Parts: sequence; structure tokens; C-alpha cells
Amino acid sequence: MSGIYIHIPFCKQACHYCDFHFSTSMVLKGDMVQTISQELKLRRDYLQGQPVHTIYFGGGTPSLLNQEELQSILATVRELFIVSDDAEITLEANPDDLSPEKLQELKGAGINRLSIGLQSFHEPHLRLMNRAHTATESVQCVLDAQAAGFDNITVDLIYGIPAPDHTIWHRDLELLFSLNVQHVSCYALTIEPDTALGRWSKKGSFKPSEDEFTAQQFEILLEQMKQHGYGQYEISNFSRPGYESKHNSNYWRGVHYLGIGPSAHSFNGHSRQYNVSHNKKYIDALKQNAVPFELEELTLADQANDYLLTTLRTIWGCDLKKLRQEFRYDLGSDHRAYLQELQEKELARIEADVLYLTDKGKLLSDQITMDLLAEEV
Ligand code: SF4
Repeated sequence: MSGIYIHIPFCKQACHYCDFHFSTSMVLKGDMVQTISQELKLRRDYLQGQPVHTIYFGGGTPSLLNQEELQSILATVRELFIVSDDAEITLEANPDDLSPEKLQELKGAGINRLSIGLQSFHEPHLRLMNRAHTATESVQCVLDAQAAGFDNITVDLIYGIPAPDHTIWHRDLELLFSLNVQHVSCYALTIEPDTALGRWSKKGSFKPSEDEFTAQQFEILLEQMKQHGYGQYEISNFSRPGYESKHNSNYWRGVHYLGIGPSAHSFNGHSRQYNVSHNKKYIDALKQNAVPFELEELTLADQANDYLLTTLRTIWGCDLKKLRQEFRYDLGSDHRAYLQELQEKELARIEADVLYLTDKGKLLSDQITMDLLAEEV
């Protein structure tokens, strides 16, 4: 089992919170599509013949690709790899791109899961974040996608946006539940230094929410998701039963994946590969049949830490036996006292040699994970 991630590094405009790799110039879009196919050809052996169960178009904004461009990339993938018949094929899309015609094109191209970046239903928040769509479009595109026959839709929402109280967040959640989508990803607004919000925050012209305010919104989220029948299978991800993202679940389970496109990462169990985060350098190198990347060989400690970092965020928890046997990290014994303390404070529990964070523990997951990382294995 394996997955393929394809990074489409173009956006109409720069969202004020975003530090992903993208360009707002479309000049290289045609070249990029061709180059992506070229990288797929050069790296056809990376997955060593393992069948591909998930294909994920991320970005950037993959919904900027037209049907022909999408079909040509997917045709190359199918020509070079063994793609399972029921593969999950996800495409990230922004509401302003999802006209009824576009939705038909995406269906026609073989996309069977849509990931829509709504982020908020509140107009001033959308403007603060410099999103390219309105709150009305946020609602309408989901209704149109459902009418077009998409029955596996996930939407992204952001919480912790500065507000006088939690009224807007409650309203955003109410609107979300009225749409009855299968899956929701919710992220706290984080202020990265190299973004507009980061620069304004440094100058003092933007004041981020207090941590406590954001934590309260996370608690509201957990309670509301439970009430509306969405299971939290990862800290930021909620789904109706059976609609967990196969692609992301595989990341968290250590399944190998091939990342294609500028800034994409790949993982094959013992190393990570990072493609250059620069559109022109990427295209120029591929035109010379070279993939521009950096390679990181993973030590046992790196692998143990990756495993901890990902699994502690999930409902499947961190298998302490696997840590011992595969990565030679005896967490239970190295951190006995700390684990005891976590359990006494009801932040974590251990059942059948698996460590899980409680809802209370999830609020502190970053700190708890940092405290448990392996130094030397
Ligand atoms: S959030 Fe998405 S749409 Fe906005 S700039 Fe980042 S990648 Fe582009």
C-alpha cells in the first residue's frame, strides 16, 4: 500500500496566514504540468511496485488546473503505477473556483474526494485572511458539489481568529453542520513569521488571539463535533464513520508515499526526500532529467520520533510495543514517571501497551510529544 502526493504550487492570491510554497503568477503553469509528469516518470521506482491506494492533489490551489491538465497527470500516474480500483483521489479546491461546470470537470477527471478550503463563513474574517472567496461562496460551493454528486467532501475551517467572544465561532460551526459534509479539518490560526499576519503582528498592527481564547474554541469544537456525530480520529480531523481520509491516515500510519512537485516530500521508511521549494529551479532541473531534492536519512531515533509525533495525534494511539521492537525505543521505561504523571492528571492513558491522549491531553499534545521524544536510541 502506498500514496502519491502532487503539489500544485499556484494560488490566485496570497492568504495572509499562509507559508506554504506557491506562486501567484501562472506563467509557469503549463510547464509545471509537463514537468510533474516528467518527475513521475523519473521516480516510477520509488514505491517499489507497491500498489497506490491514494492520490492527493495539494497545494497551492490544485483547482486552478483545468480538466485536461488534471487528466494528463492522472493518466501518467496510471500508466506508471499500479493504482487500485477504489483509490481515493482527493483534490484541494477553493470555493471561488468551484462553479457547477468546474465541478463536472473534476468529476470527469476522476476526482472522487473534494477538500474545500472554506476557512470561515464570516466575511470580515475572510477579508482579514485575504481569502479569494466570499462567505456566500463558501456555502454555495458545498451545495453545488453535493448536487454534482460528490459524496465524499471535506472542508477546512480555522479557529482562534481574533474576535470579541465565541459568537462567530458558534455561528461558523452551525453553518458547517447545516452542510452535512462527511469530513472536517479544523486548524488553529497560527502566526508564521514569514506571512502578512506575522509581519503585522511583529509591527504591532495585528494582535493574535490569546492562547486561552484559542483553546476555548478548540474545546467548543470538540464538544460540537461529538454532538453532531463526527468522530475525532486525529487532533485536527473529524469524520462521519468510514469517511476518515485514507491519504492522511496512511501518513500517520507510516505508509510510504511519493511526493511530486516543488516542495513536496517523499517517505520510504528509511529516508525523507524534500523537493526544492522553487518553481523555476524545479522546472529547469527536470528539463535536464534531474530531480532537485535534499535527502535526509532517518536514524532509528528519527523514525521513533516521527512515529510518536504522528500517532499520538490519532485515535489509534502510539503502540509502545512497535516503538520497542522496530525503533528500539522503550518509552514506557525511559519515561515511566512522566507517563505515570500524565495518567494521574488524566492527560493520557495506556491500554494494551498503547498510549493514547485524552481530550484534555490533546490540548497539550505538542508539549507532551516534545517531552517524550527520543534523544538516542
Ligand atoms: S492558504 Fe491555500 S489558497 Fe491561500 S495562499 Fe495558502 S495555499 Fe494558497
